[in-house]
Amino acid sequence: MNIEVTKRKRSRIKKVDFNNLEFGVDFSDHMFSVRYGEGKWGAPKIEPYGTIKIEPSLCSLHYGQVVFEGLKAFRTVTGKINLFRPDKYHERFNRSNERLCIPFIPYELFINGIKELVLLDQAWIPEKKGCSLYIRPFIFATDNFLGVRVSYTYNFTIITSPVGAYYKEGLNPVRLITSGEYVRAAKGGLGAVKTPANYAASLLPGEEAKKKGFTQVLWLDAAENRYIEEVGTMNIAFIIDGKLVTPPLEGSILPGVTRDSVISLANHWGIPVEERQISIEEVFAKAKDGSLQEVFGTGTAAVISPVGWIQHAGEMITIHNGEIGPLSQKFYDEITGMHYGEKPDLFGWCLTL
Ligand SMILES: *Cc1c(COP(=O)(O)O)cnc(C)c1O
Repeated sequence: MNIEVTKRKRSRIKKVDFNNLEFGVDFSDHMFSVRYGEGKWGAPKIEPYGTIKIEPSLCSLHYGQVVFEGLKAFRTVTGKINLFRPDKYHERFNRSNERLCIPFIPYELFINGIKELVLLDQAWIPEKKGCSLYIRPFIFATDNFLGVRVSYTYNFTIITSPVGAYYKEGLNPVRLITSGEYVRAAKGGLGAVKTPANYAASLLPGEEAKKKGFTQVLWLDAAENRYIEEVGTMNIAFIIDGKLVTPPLEGSILPGVTRDSVISLANHWGIPVEERQISIEEVFAKAKDGSLQEVFGTGTAAVISPVGWIQHAGEMITIHNGEIGPLSQKFYDEITGMHYGEKPDLFGWCLTL
């Protein structure tokens, strides 16, 4: 595959404080993009990161025909570059695309775009443990048209961003509050699709949660407002009596790659895994009888994010004294150990550049 590369004359990297990286505020020097139209992909290119020109009638601005992904590149302890499970993210990208009538993106286009971009901007991969280069591939419809229909043309773009910890809490436990009257996604809707609409639905509840002193919302199911779904940027897992319990993938939650990695590791370590419905009442009951040992979120951005407190219907439970639990720490250490090439890549998850 031939990618036309136009390099920036002078890097902007000196403007970035790599010792105090936040999540997703700095962008590396270049971006990748390729257009789709008349049933085929055009010529891919890499050019300096910068503004893109659009018309105000761009249909994806009005009707949200957009899908994105989020994965990471790591600088390993031996100086190599690891991409973590890029094939899984690609697979999910296309599952999302299918639901939103967006064309299939060939693996070659996806992986070569990422590889060339990351290699060109490799100085932007932070070396500090816990930091990485976040890769954001996304595709949006580009027909200029106000009727509601599927677009004929698309733009597939990849940008990258050097990042530190996703939550300012880092590995310190977060505080969650259940969704109350709000619903994120119903079965058959877009809950399993990585698309901006799900985030749009979560903004107001998220703001209200923050005003009350919580980090994020814990979403309950749309039908009964009872069963735990996810955290909106992370999937969620519970350690109950030594077992890993996590809600099943039944269409309203995002099939997380990190969730899948945690399940694989649990299986490998002989920890029983239950992918099943779990109600908020059960979580509270298990907290009270002492069998709820740990709760944590899983997602590419934070990897593992321990949950210390959950509030529901005016009542609050504290998990593991508001401290990270041993299994949460073990999953975090194992997965990040693979990222940086410090632990054996047990399942061949890393693509080393
Ligand atoms: C991306 C995302 C997750 C986490 O998935 P990972 O593949 O582990 O990053 C969870 N929930 C939602 C809604 C997401 O968009």
